[in-house]
Amino acid sequence: MPSKKPLTTTFMALALTAAASLVPGSTFAEDAADLILQHGVFYPVEPAEPVDGSLAIRDGAIVYLGDDAGAAAFAGPATETIDLGGRAVTPGLIDAHSHLFGLGAALVQVDAVGTASYAEVIERVAAAAAELPAGTWVLGRGWDQNDWAGDKAFPHHRQLSAAVTDHPVWLTRIDGHAALLNATALDALGLDGSVEDPSGGRFLRDGEGQLTGVLIDNAMDVARTAVPPPSAEEAARRLRLAADHCLARGLTTVTDMGVSAGMIAAYDRLADAGELPIRAALYLTDDAALLADWFERGPRLDPEGRLTIRGVKLYADGALGSRGAALVEPYSDDPANLGLLVSSGDHLAEVATDAVGAGFQVAIHAIGDRGNLVALDALERAQQSRAFQQWPRLRIEHAQVMRLQDIDRMVERHVIASMQPTHATSDMPWAGDRVGERRLAGAYAWQRVLQAGGKLAFGSDFPVERAAPVLGLYSAVSRQDLDGQPAGGWLPQQRVSRHQALHGFTLGAAEAVFLEHLVGSLAVGKRADLVVWDRDPMTVPERQIVDAQADLTLVDGEIVHRRETGR
Ligand SMILES: [Zn+2]
Repeated sequence: MPSKKPLTTTFMALALTAAASLVPGSTFAEDAADLILQHGVFYPVEPAEPVDGSLAIRDGAIVYLGDDAGAAAFAGPATETIDLGGRAVTPGLIDAHSHLFGLGAALVQVDAVGTASYAEVIERVAAAAAELPAGTWVLGRGWDQNDWAGDKAFPHHRQLSAAVTDHPVWLTRIDGHAALLNATALDALGLDGSVEDPSGGRFLRDGEGQLTGVLIDNAMDVARTAVPPPSAEEAARRLRLAADHCLARGLTTVTDMGVSAGMIAAYDRLADAGELPIRAALYLTDDAALLADWFERGPRLDPEGRLTIRGVKLYADGALGSRGAALVEPYSDDPANLGLLVSSGDHLAEVATDAVGAGFQVAIHAIGDRGNLVALDALERAQQSRAFQQWPRLRIEHAQVMRLQDIDRMVERHVIASMQPTHATSDMPWAGDRVGERRLAGAYAWQRVLQAGGKLAFGSDFPVERAAPVLGLYSAVSRQDLDGQPAGGWLPQQRVSRHQALHGFTLGAAEAVFLEHLVGSLAVGKRADLVVWDRDPMTVPERQIVDAQADLTLVDGEIVHRRETGR
């Protein structure tokens, strides 16, 4: 909206600016910055070239970016100044595809990976339980009795139940195919020796016919449905933990791909209390009742861009590792298998059409080339359903293995490719086995998307991958693992430059969540979301990008993370 300031106000503003710049030290209080970061190297993203100098912030917005001398005009009696001593500053990084709520759940799980004995697992669980109100479920994962000294048989809940009595406990085994529950959990779920084994699952029993607390496969699924979701208070606590975790790693805007009504309530609770320190863009999960409700109400467009709900997350297919991604031709390492579509093309097109009609953005998970084909067809049908006044920013999530003609079609349709650099480096040991040499031409093909003129938004899919954008930047420019393998990078022609990588994690991701007018670059007028790095991720040797740490993270000009340096 164009501002309709009376002319006199504009003249007054000009006069004030002129006065301030002509007479050093005479800045009017209302013009002074709240904070000046000086002696830094600033990467605005747009334009690409860094600026040596200062950045000034007033009322949460950037009011100056330029040489150090020019910043003096913004220094008033109450201005705080931080000398960066030459450190690098980037815009706050943005994760276009993540699961903040899932990260919160992962962060509070007891980590039992690498435990050397059952006693050690119990010790960790008891310590976690001591921090939680009685009755709260304690969840954990990662135990493996094969790593424990002595007997390699499955554990019995007896010792665990004796140590943790006031909290129900659920500990998933390292492979995800078994869980150990304590007596409190078994009681809470109404499970005892009389329970029957479901098909495809077992409740293990001891010599007396009593449950040992170990649940195998479908027995876990049966029991899991009875585990209550976390209380609203606990859900909000986890979200806060997850947000702080992200801020400490330089993320200032995250997404939550696939939220339920209960999850939205947890976000609202935190945001209403003024305790959501990060920007979050939420995407509704594909649930008929939830979508009907929101399509009726319309999207929530927060003018401040803190908590936005304007997107819908749909699924076309599964994942490549488990051969659930849908392919046009069979898997190269499983000739009878085409993978599977988890939604029909008609379903995707119908929901996408309704969503777009109600003013929502659509993001479709598509991994295999058939998944991507079906997703693109659905998005095209939605686009044709009405005349667009503006770019609807339809998205494909992952866009992992695509036929080359579909990459072109995605670009022609202005569909955003929402891709995760660390997925490529996680999958590279086996992706070639799954799809074969020829199909790799359109696999994790970031540079091909860019060269075709496409829109690329980067993310991590945390907690599937770690929530550290430096890992994504490193994968994007190197296509190597942390040991620098393979030499030269995997499918190296798809590597991107550091600037392209930073763009994908800032402005590219901002466009994917409709926030580029507020964030994603360092520019006068934009919100002051930025990161001060302990080393310059844009110039250090490639492998050291992952060592870069956020010294300071700012959102809306507020310091929301300050690294303990031990100095
Ligand atoms: Zn995801």
